[in-house]
Amino acid sequence: MNILVLNCGSSSVKFQLIDTDAEKIKTDTDRRLAHGVIERIGGPALVNFSVQNADGSQRTTREAVPLRDHSAAIEKIVQWIISPETNISGISTYSDIAAVGHRVVHGGEELTRSLIITDEVIKQIEDCIDLAPLHNPQNLKGIYAIRKVFGGTAQQVAVFDTAFHHTLPDYAYLYAIPYQFYRRHKIRRYGFHGISHRYVQYRYRMLKNIPRDTVNVISIHLGNGASVCAIKGGRSQDTSMGMTPLEGLIMGTRSGDIDPAVLEHLAHKEGFSLSDVEAVLNKQSGLLGISGLTNDMRELVAEAVENDDRRAKLAIEMFAYRAKKYIGSYLASLNGASAIIFTGGIGENSDYVRGRILDGLDWLGITPDEALNKATTRGKEGKISAESSRLEVYVIPTNEELLIARDTLRCLIGLELPR
Ligand code: ADP
Repeated sequence: MNILVLNCGSSSVKFQLIDTDAEKIKTDTDRRLAHGVIERIGGPALVNFSVQNADGSQRTTREAVPLRDHSAAIEKIVQWIISPETNISGISTYSDIAAVGHRVVHGGEELTRSLIITDEVIKQIEDCIDLAPLHNPQNLKGIYAIRKVFGGTAQQVAVFDTAFHHTLPDYAYLYAIPYQFYRRHKIRRYGFHGISHRYVQYRYRMLKNIPRDTVNVISIHLGNGASVCAIKGGRSQDTSMGMTPLEGLIMGTRSGDIDPAVLEHLAHKEGFSLSDVEAVLNKQSGLLGISGLTNDMRELVAEAVENDDRRAKLAIEMFAYRAKKYIGSYLASLNGASAIIFTGGIGENSDYVRGRILDGLDWLGITPDEALNKATTRGKEGKISAESSRLEVYVIPTNEELLIARDTLRCLIGLELPR
C-alpha cells in the first residue's frame, strides 16, 4: 500500500511516499519510493523532489514555482507523484495513494495514540493549538489541504510527537507549581521527538533481538531541536523537553533549561516584553547565541577544530556538558540502563560531539570505541562502544517517516498499534 507521509511547517512541506503492508512491516522490507520538500510556500517556492530508481539511485527534480499556500504545495506534490514522467511503478492516479499520514506535534493529554482523522479528531487537534501555537496550526493546514486536494475521499491518520511520552508518571510530568494550574491549564511536561525516540527503541530491539519489555535505554536525539528520553521497558519514563520544545538540552537556537527568574530580569534590563524574551530564548539562544556565529553544528565543529575559535569551542562544550548531565540524571532515574543511543543530525553524524559527550564516563561503565565512533557517520547504524563497556552505545539513524507510514497502515487495516 502506498502511504504519503507529510510533515507540514509554517512555510514548508516535507513528504515521503512509502510502500508498506503488514507483511513488509514484519519482515522490515517496506521502502521509500519518493521523497522531497517544498520550502518558502507563499512566494516563489523552492521545490526539491527525488524518486528512487530500481537500482537504488535517485532522480531529482528542482525548480522554483510560485505556490500560494499549503494546498497548492500539496497539490504540486501529488501531481508529481502520479505523473507519468515521475514514473513510480503502480502509481498513476489519486486512488493509488491509499492514505496520508501526518506528523502532528501536539496531542495534549487526550490524543495519546495514532488515530484516523475524523472531524472530531480535527477538533481535538485544534483544541491543542493553545499548547503548540507554532506547530499544530501548520499540521492542520496539511490535513485541510489533503481534504481539498483529494476531495474528502482520502483516509488520513495523525501520528503525534507527544504520544510516546504519555507513559510518563505524574511525578515526572508535573512541574512543582501550584497543582491547580495543571488542573486549570494543563501546564505539565508533554515531551516531543516522541516519534523519533519510539523509532530508535524499536530499532534497538530489532538489532538486539530482545522483547520490548526489556528495553531500558537512554535515547539522545540531537538535531536542530534536541531532547533526551529515558526509556524503561520500551516506554518513555522521562524526557527533557517540557510543555513546549524549549526545555532541556541546549539546541541550535533554543536555550533549553534556564532559571525562570532570568525572564523577568532580562525583560526589565532590556525593556523587553515577555514575548520578546521568549523569542530570544527560542530563536537567538543555544549554539547560535553562545557562539555568535551559527546554529549549524557542522560549521561550529569546523570553526573549533580548524580555527580554534573560542566561542565555537565554548558552544560545543556547553552543548556536550548539558547532554552529559542528562545522561547521568536519567541513568539514576532509570536505576541503570543497558544502552545509550544517539540519533538526529548531530547524533548520527558528529563523532566529535558524541566523543565530547561521552568523555570521562568510563567510571560509569560507558567506554566508547574511538575507531567505531569515527567510522559511524552518514546514515550508518551500529554499536560504537568498546567490548569492555558495561553499557553499550549505539548510533541509530532516525526514521520518523517510516514509523508514521506504518502507524497509518496499522490504523487503516485495524492492526494493533505498538504502545
Ligand atoms: P532537524 O531537527 O531540523 O531535523 P537535523 O536532525 O537534520 O535537524 O540536524 C541538523 C543538525 O545536524 C545541524 O546542526 C547540522 O549542522 C548537524 N549536522 C549534520 N551533519 C553533521 C556533521 N557531520 N557534523 C556535525 N554536525 C552535523
